[in-house]
Amino acid sequence: MKKYLLFFFSLTSLIIHSQTDSRIYDIIDSVSADRLEKDITTLANFGTRHTLSDTVSQTRGIGAARRWIKSEFEKISADCDDCLEVFYQKDLVKKGEGRRITKDVWVVNVVAIQRGTKYPNRYIIMSGDIDSRVSDANDFTSDAPGANDNASGMAGAIEASRVLSKYKFENSIMYVGLSGEEQGLYGGRGLAAYAKEKGWQIIGILNNDMIGNITGVDGVVSNRDFRIFSEPVPPNETEQQRRARRFYGGEVDGISRQLARYVHKTTQQYMPEMNPIMVYRLDRFGRGGHHRPFNDAGFAGIRIMEAHENYTQQHQDIRLEDGIAYGDVLEHVNFDYAAKLTAVNAINLASIAWAPPSPETVKIGGIVQPSVKLTWSSVEGATGYKIYWRDTTSPTWDHSKYVGNVNGHVLEGIVVDNFFFGVAAVGKDDHESPIVFPNSILLR
Ligand SMILES: [Zn+2]
Repeated sequence: MKKYLLFFFSLTSLIIHSQTDSRIYDIIDSVSADRLEKDITTLANFGTRHTLSDTVSQTRGIGAARRWIKSEFEKISADCDDCLEVFYQKDLVKKGEGRRITKDVWVVNVVAIQRGTKYPNRYIIMSGDIDSRVSDANDFTSDAPGANDNASGMAGAIEASRVLSKYKFENSIMYVGLSGEEQGLYGGRGLAAYAKEKGWQIIGILNNDMIGNITGVDGVVSNRDFRIFSEPVPPNETEQQRRARRFYGGEVDGISRQLARYVHKTTQQYMPEMNPIMVYRLDRFGRGGHHRPFNDAGFAGIRIMEAHENYTQQHQDIRLEDGIAYGDVLEHVNFDYAAKLTAVNAINLASIAWAPPSPETVKIGGIVQPSVKLTWSSVEGATGYKIYWRDTTSPTWDHSKYVGNVNGHVLEGIVVDNFFFGVAAVGKDDHESPIVFPNSILLR
């Protein structure tokens, strides 16, 4: 019987080849709603964190807020043998550069890097925003607690660093507070340019903007739903890539979309109580977020946020009007929900940081054949590869086959026309890279 069981289990793992890593469950359990409440409260109590607000006061304004964020990252680092490199990254934005820049201002981001042991120059990023606003985007003195928008995302990034700093990763993880969001996405633009200048290899950015509200303006209440926004293809693709898409596909398979699918899948696997909703667009209708400047620079980036927004509680002067209490105040933040979405981030940062890089080149062929052939460039550190495919109308990679440590595979009996395909590298403990959609064609 014992022998039979052993055989059964080894066969099962061979076929499914998708074990779970118990550390991921520990990470979920370690995220603390109480610490998030404390940090969101601290951030809201800086009065306003408007990008143009006071930088001298120790208690009010964006200067005090960013110094506190930096000191929090430094405290976390002191607790993990200096495992975080903490610094300001800043750019001077001149008066008039945009409608919302009414005076010269230093847009200052706070960056904390947990250096990867094997791929130190590859980064997976989690971001929140430091700044806040009221009804008038240029009012930098009125109270703008920005408890949900976006102290929730900022506190989430700090909490994720607390939890993940207890582990070692092969890739680097970057936790960042971005500034200048409400004035026109200046902080993200600055950091993306800095990343290019430094030659950082950005795996992707998980931008968190409003992760604490569960009561929609339409009355829908859900502490399980959340949205993952991703654009279909990079805006900086070449004319040749655009042309190739007409013949080989890829309209909904850009690098940001693969990152969105990765987060969707990891969440379903490890946090089945949550309901991740992929939204096939860059951001909400006509609105913006800090993943966009990274997308503009050619990096993968998605927005993670609540599913049910309340517009009376964002970008509003605090006031009572017709019986409605306007304002982005602490009372409306659900800290348990913010903890859930922080955990969603943390497990995806961990999975990606534990995984090998994606294959750089994936080639596909199979024109007028009853089989599909895929080949890919090998990835240093990969223990094997997994081929994924799905119906052309499916949003998720529904079928997969682990093919071992090889550089190519033929899927017999499958017609290339009827599915989309991709390849992921698999590493230690079965952590997988984001999937790569074929970027080259195998001619017969
Ligand atoms: Zn906002």
